[in-house]
Parts: sequence; C-alpha cells; structure tokens
Amino acid sequence: MEQYKKLSSHGSINIPVAMRRDLGLEPKDPMIVSTNGEGDIILKPYVPRCMYCGRQDQVHKVFGRYVCAGCAKKVCEALEKMNGGEANG
Ligand SMILES: [Zn+2]
Repeated sequence: MEQYKKLSSHGSINIPVAMRRDLGLEPKDPMIVSTNGEGDIILKPYVPRCMYCGRQDQVHKVFGRYVCAGCAKKVCEALEKMNGGEANG
C-alpha cells in the first residue's frame, strides 16, 4: 500500500484511514519515527495493537500485521473449520 501525501506547514503528515484501520491504529497512539539511512522514514506503533480486537498485550507481528495470541488462535481455529468444511462441499 502506497499513497502520495504532503507534509503540513508544521511538518506533520496524515496517515490514510485505510492504513490506520489495517494496522489497528487509534487516534493518539504513540508512534516511533526513525530513518533507515537510505533516505526512507519508518513509522511504526510504539505499542502495537491487535488488528482484530485492539488489545495491546501479547501482540506479535505476523506477515506484517499485528495480531494478539488470542486472535491468532481464533484465526487458526476458523481456518481449520474452513479446511474441514471443504470435504463436505
Ligand atoms: Zn486480538
């Protein structure tokens, strides 16, 4: 996902709502801003939030998304059910 954005006169930038939803970011969430030495600016949540339930504890990064242990388990169970359901049509 990539979008063209302009800095405000104060140097701030808006993060598109789709990206915020995607990563489970809430207003006033603290963020870490860093550079990678190649001219890129990297922005990431200070305390990652689960993209499904919004929890901030036991959150892990899975394929670029933040998911809590509880939701990861639910996703696994849901996938198992879907796979099990394939045989029945
Ligand atoms: Zn969760």
